[in-house]
Amino acid sequence: MALRRILTVDTAADMAVLKQISTPVPAVTDDLRALMDDMLETMYDAPGIGLAAVQVGEPVRVIVMDLAREGDEPAPRYFVNPEIVETGGELQAYEEGCLSVPEYYDEVERPSKVKLRYLNYQGEAVEEEAEGLFAVCVQHEMDHLEGVLFIDHLSRLRRDRAIAKVKKAARAA
Ligand code: ZN
Repeated sequence: MALRRILTVDTAADMAVLKQISTPVPAVTDDLRALMDDMLETMYDAPGIGLAAVQVGEPVRVIVMDLAREGDEPAPRYFVNPEIVETGGELQAYEEGCLSVPEYYDEVERPSKVKLRYLNYQGEAVEEEAEGLFAVCVQHEMDHLEGVLFIDHLSRLRRDRAIAKVKKAARAA
């Protein structure tokens, strides 16, 4: 396993990759599992609760996630070619963050329930319902597969402010 660099919105080169639409994965192979292992390690190291492959520069439709609370056993989850087949519930606002927009948090409204379909780490087809933080996180990560960042859901002003903040922090570092 290896740590990968997480792309961030403060450079034009990284932003160009983050804006790409990720391509479907033809099959869950050992190479793909190696990428998922790297992604999980990178996500834990950051630390974060979700990461899409495009955020480490691989525009393929793969997401890793772990929503276990601090102090609980790790509970890694892997989503290959995820699709939302149904959305429901109310629109719910949640304060989101993103490893590609470090240290910036803002509220985004999303449906509170989604039903999704994906292939897991073993390549098995899974259908599952998500709500609460799981629903928020899976919709946030699936946006990445379409080249959409959570700050794209904000007003132009707030989006620009978020990017300016990340740029300023990068210059100071
Ligand atoms: Zn994100």
